[in-house]
Amino acid sequence: MKSFSHIKPLRNELNRLKAAQRSIGLVPTMGALHAGHLELVKKALHENEAVVVTIFINPIQFNNPDDLKNYPRDPERDLQLLNPLLRPHDLVFMPDVREMYPEPDTRTFNLGPVATVMEGAYRPGHFNGVAIVVDKLFNITTPDRAYFGEKDFQQIMVIRRLIELQHHPVSLIACPIVREPDGLAMSSRNIRIPGEIRPFAAIIHQALLSARSAANQLSPGQLVRQIREMIDQAPGITTEYVEIADELTLQPVAQWDQNTPVRCFIAAYAGQIRLIDNMRMRPPE
Ligand code: AMP
Repeated sequence: MKSFSHIKPLRNELNRLKAAQRSIGLVPTMGALHAGHLELVKKALHENEAVVVTIFINPIQFNNPDDLKNYPRDPERDLQLLNPLLRPHDLVFMPDVREMYPEPDTRTFNLGPVATVMEGAYRPGHFNGVAIVVDKLFNITTPDRAYFGEKDFQQIMVIRRLIELQHHPVSLIACPIVREPDGLAMSSRNIRIPGEIRPFAAIIHQALLSARSAANQLSPGQLVRQIREMIDQAPGITTEYVEIADELTLQPVAQWDQNTPVRCFIAAYAGQIRLIDNMRMRPPE
């Protein structure tokens, strides 16, 4: 693999690959890589002749300064994890903040209703910051395909909207959630969960599983209450929101409808660490 911290040499390399008609797969990450990221990379390797993995902690998508300050960073380990997977011609792009933002990017995207609910409501400015950095990464790398994880399901819907708005000629590939053995969705932030609380964080996944099994007997509102009660009784774990929403519009649903795929979305704190997760409720995936 070849790694770059500047746009110009990365572009030169990408131009060479494109001149040789190689398809390009992009995997954007914020580093502190785990098996969830690596599944995205493996899928991109399988489906593209060349892959670009980007590692950039995007400051403008953090609405909480402490979260940005404490976000795990381990670039050497990241490269060690990528090295055995990537082929000699695949690329890693690790820019610093000045490279990505030579001046502040003050654009506001009209991301529509998918960006105002849930994460959009609880993390003001987050999705606009995500849209700005992903727009830049699409412009820099002009990939054929871009790989995103369903752990951040709402983010996928926001990026679909961005692709439409900006006419990016890219196919978005959504990849399933990769979980720890106890069911907790893998996340770079998991290593920051205090040890005494960590075993209880599995309740989030357990609550999603039991909600899915009860979905034929209970209304969406009843399910939300059941999930909140189950999670909030676990020591150190507190729900921020639990929503049952139409998978395409992300708007909350009050009733089940046979023709509408419906998903449950959770944000919860494990100690001070904010976690998100989601699962299809109906119909079965
Ligand atoms: P991040 O580094 O957290 O910004 O994540 C980079 C990409 O990896 C995003 O598309 C995430 O949705 C995806 N991702 C993170 N965790 C997981 C996971 N547990 N399973 C699948 N994809 C994930």
